[in-house]
Amino acid sequence: MPISDFDGKIAFITGGASGIGLGIARVLSDRGAQVVLADLRQDHIDKALAGFAGGGRSNAVSALQLDVTNRTAYREAAQRMQDEFGGIDILVNNAGVGLEGPILEATYADYDFGFGVNVGGVINGFVEFLPQMLAHGRGGHIVSTASLAAEVVMPSAMAIYGASKAAVCHYCESVKAELAEKDIGVSILLPGPVKSNIHETQQNRPAHLLEGSGYKNSEAKLARRIVGDNWMEPEEAGRLVAEGILANSTYIVTHGFYKPAMAAR
Ligand code: NAD
Repeated sequence: MPISDFDGKIAFITGGASGIGLGIARVLSDRGAQVVLADLRQDHIDKALAGFAGGGRSNAVSALQLDVTNRTAYREAAQRMQDEFGGIDILVNNAGVGLEGPILEATYADYDFGFGVNVGGVINGFVEFLPQMLAHGRGGHIVSTASLAAEVVMPSAMAIYGASKAAVCHYCESVKAELAEKDIGVSILLPGPVKSNIHETQQNRPAHLLEGSGYKNSEAKLARRIVGDNWMEPEEAGRLVAEGILANSTYIVTHGFYKPAMAAR
């Protein structure tokens, strides 16, 4: 059965300790879900948990440190969710990294990094949690964060990033079609510019990638040119995600003025 209420639901959110993931976590926990933040960065986790504690919501939120590209660690995390909560009801495949730079300056390491986190991390989420959701019989929902850059060719150098996000869309659409007879909802979040750490240059970038690569991971210049001051707050994106889950929307679009053709499908 598709999710109709968040009360008591267990939500596992990757990249959940910052930006959009944290915005989704706040909204789902406000609406009754038990939320687990899974994030690479312990400093982000500590700050996020302190925020929930300050807001008196610490009982509904816990966290674990996880690199979504590490399959062994991901499997252990899924097992832990099974042991602690009897499995999860909502998976938000949100962890991602930005990549921006001229294609002639990209290295193989840039391709591996971008696709490893943005595509591999999403697929690992489905691989580890889909069997669990199907087995526990409560139904469930999986949201994956792509980007409007999946469809809109940006007038800046975002070929690797856009291609990785287009791959997320295709994968999720295909899984949704395959799961049509099952009680698992599948949605794709297509954010436009949302306030977050991703716009800070070189966030989450392993040091070895910085040498010899012209790539940065800042989308800020481009985003400003497109939306001016119309940056969205992460919690607003979180509210759209909550409604998208309830409606089992295929696409959840934050900035409607992009009017992406795929969202009309
Ligand atoms: P953010 O940097 O604020 O948050 C991303 C979080 O993911 C961070 O806490 C980071 O530590 C974590 N993370 C990075 N690599 C990870 C890994 N390997 N394993 C686990 N966690 C990891 O950025 P954000 O903008 O909130 O990004 C969330 C998602 O939204 C990303 O997939 C991004 O591509 C997408 N997106 C963002 C925007 C935007 O304007 N903010 C626009 C389009 C798409």
